[in-house]
Amino acid sequence: MLQNPPPPEFMQKMRRLLGAEFAAFAASYEQEARIGLRVNTLKIDVADFSSKAPFTLTPVGAYEPAGFHVADEAKPGRHPYHAAGLYYMQEPSAMAVAALLDPQPGEWVLDLAAAPGGKATHLIARMKDQGLLVANDVDRGRARDLAENLERWGTRSVLITNNTPQQLAAHFGPVFDRVLLDAPCSGEGMFRKQGGFAWSETMVLACARRQTAILDTAVSLLRPGGILAYATCTFSPEEDEGVIGRFLTDHPDFTLINPTHFAGFAPGHPDWLPAGVYLPNEFQLANTIRFWPHLFAGEGHFVALLQKEGDGQPSRPDRSAKPARSPLWAAFARETLRIAFDDERMGVVNGRFLHLFPPAAPGTAGLYVLRHGLPLAELGKNHLKPDHALALALTAAAVQQHVNFAPDDPQLTAYRNGQTLSSPGPNGWTLVTVDGFGLGWAKRVNGVLKNHYPRGLRR
Ligand code: SAM
Repeated sequence: MLQNPPPPEFMQKMRRLLGAEFAAFAASYEQEARIGLRVNTLKIDVADFSSKAPFTLTPVGAYEPAGFHVADEAKPGRHPYHAAGLYYMQEPSAMAVAALLDPQPGEWVLDLAAAPGGKATHLIARMKDQGLLVANDVDRGRARDLAENLERWGTRSVLITNNTPQQLAAHFGPVFDRVLLDAPCSGEGMFRKQGGFAWSETMVLACARRQTAILDTAVSLLRPGGILAYATCTFSPEEDEGVIGRFLTDHPDFTLINPTHFAGFAPGHPDWLPAGVYLPNEFQLANTIRFWPHLFAGEGHFVALLQKEGDGQPSRPDRSAKPARSPLWAAFARETLRIAFDDERMGVVNGRFLHLFPPAAPGTAGLYVLRHGLPLAELGKNHLKPDHALALALTAAAVQQHVNFAPDDPQLTAYRNGQTLSSPGPNGWTLVTVDGFGLGWAKRVNGVLKNHYPRGLRR
């Protein structure tokens, strides 16, 4: 039995909507929420990960080959592979959203409400880190969590912003091939995981109004012919089919795509809306997808895929800034790295942070940007400090000096606790790796590894 059962008024509403199906739905609250992980295919292939992982992994299904069910008791969120960004903890229904949007390498994609980053990490993995992902969240604190999660992912093609949808629309215009709006919602689909203390029908209606407003802005960021995914983690038809029905009525240049239905994907419920309001689009609303905890091994979710009329590539202005040439970086790269980063794409942010900008880097003047591509280093007067994000984007083979540990080595635990380690070898920056995957930096001085694992991440 769940510690926090769903609110009785919510269950009454679901009983009214689901009719004969309600008993199966209610019984799903007798079971624990589903836990899943999705392998970071930018760092490791799925077969290799499956052979290394110390957990029992059960595939979630054909819709996401990198997704697995995993038992919570195995504590996968605390494993060093998680700290090294080899996977993201994400429940299986949430994995269907980026899979359905299906972004392609080289495209420009916008994740408008991206924090804490489950879907953003998925989108950029599917894009093979090629093209541009703008991952945005309006909330400053949540945008920082997003940056931390994307840092573990080791990507180079993500711009992380903290702006309102209106600010992004005014800045970019209709340049994105795909836009994801994973909308703030009443969260009914997460009651099994998080409880539902704040729920009320008033809140549902307020969420629907906010979702409609954000969607209306999101469309002005999508190029003609582009695809917009609207997702919620709630069951209320007001926030799901209702928002999409209203949207199709207000935007006749959009059609609802009927996506591939994998096992357990259920159709939307136009029959739960007041009849005759959303004509002539009402019939289309069955092409939305619902994820039910009694029909699918995951939590509650809703997804609609909308395509904008038209065709053609938008004009996308390039970043006009000149590349930064840093002698400190050149010296560091010579002494420390075995791979080269493209000088032409480097830029200094806020006077001292050297970043490797995404290959397609738009101008960002006026936006609040937390991260441009891959942060490389903080530049001092006479020395630099490599960024933690750089360590997470490297492997043992990419550096001159590394110390490698098995996941269960007590010295690795000591490193993650912030301790210094003794280690013979040449002085200088040394990558600490777990089974060859970068985890953080240390600086060797006379046989002692000074710990540069970020204080905020120490255990
Ligand atoms: N996509 C995320 C993931 O997969 O990890 C989850 C996103 S969560 C469901 C919704 C997000 O919308 C929150 O992070 C919240 O800060 C953001 N949000 C709230 N109001 C917003 C608004 N008016 N415009 C854009 N985003 C908003």
